[in-house]
Amino acid sequence: MDDLWNIGTIKEVMQRHGFTFSKALGQNFLVNPSVCPRIAELGNAKKGFGVLEIGTGIGVLTNELAKRADKVVAVEIDQRLIPVLNETLAEYDNVKIVNDDVMKVDLAKLVETEFAGLDVAVCANLPYYITSPVIMTLLEQRLPIKTITVMVQKEAGTRLCAKMGTREMGAVTVAINYFAQAKVLFNVSRGSFMPPPNVDSCVVQFTLRDSTPQGVTDEKFFFRVARGAFSQRRKTLCNSVSSALGIDKADVACAIEAAGLEANVRAEKLSMQQLIDFAEKLRKVI
Ligand code: SAM
Repeated sequence: MDDLWNIGTIKEVMQRHGFTFSKALGQNFLVNPSVCPRIAELGNAKKGFGVLEIGTGIGVLTNELAKRADKVVAVEIDQRLIPVLNETLAEYDNVKIVNDDVMKVDLAKLVETEFAGLDVAVCANLPYYITSPVIMTLLEQRLPIKTITVMVQKEAGTRLCAKMGTREMGAVTVAINYFAQAKVLFNVSRGSFMPPPNVDSCVVQFTLRDSTPQGVTDEKFFFRVARGAFSQRRKTLCNSVSSALGIDKADVACAIEAAGLEANVRAEKLSMQQLIDFAEKLRKVI
């Protein structure tokens, strides 16, 4: 069905299936006709691509993806939506719905079995309660994905796409910058959804790097240091890392000096390379 953004159609389909919105599952469906085609176009839904969608709702984005990509696999947790989707996506034979919690799906296996011979992209209007865990899972597993194009809350989008060395950044920004290049594609107002959420949204895109930054000997330790560095934003790098990781202040100060940084530097001032150098020096002194 082509008009799944239409409020009248949504209401009619919902009523016929006795479906009501679940706030807990982040069910705010898109009712702005221009948004899904833009996500699909910018998000690499095209010939030669398989697209993984997370959270279908009644299939408004799925429909635009299926029109353009070779194959769409969409993971939807809400069992009540399966009969709805069987109806709204009936015209497509290149769509597979997986009725499961995306956080429990073996995504590496799914990508390998469903998208063999295809390039892979992820497109979604994400349920906001799991924005960061979903994005981090997709990145950390090093899945063979070209781009991740997702709708997130506007504030989250600013943080996720922050550049290293700026005030907006946090530990999640470090992880994203490590695996991908991030940018905000466009903003979407709260009125574009039914029911309207309390905040505006934006669509962000992560283009995965062919290789991650050089110089990290132990990724687990590096990300622990990154989390520690941003755990208490008002404190200096030395104090926050020392208290978050339980490492003696003198040792942290030693690593800061060895990395050629100012003694009272704050985490938000660091470039990726400086953070890597610091973590490597810290590994050696503890
Ligand atoms: N794509 C639709 C749209 O744009 O109108 C729906 C987007 S709505 C913001 C989020 C969707 O994700 C809902 O359909 C919800 O049921 C689904 N969802 C929530 N938690 C999920 C999870 N853990 N795994 C898979 N789907 C989930």
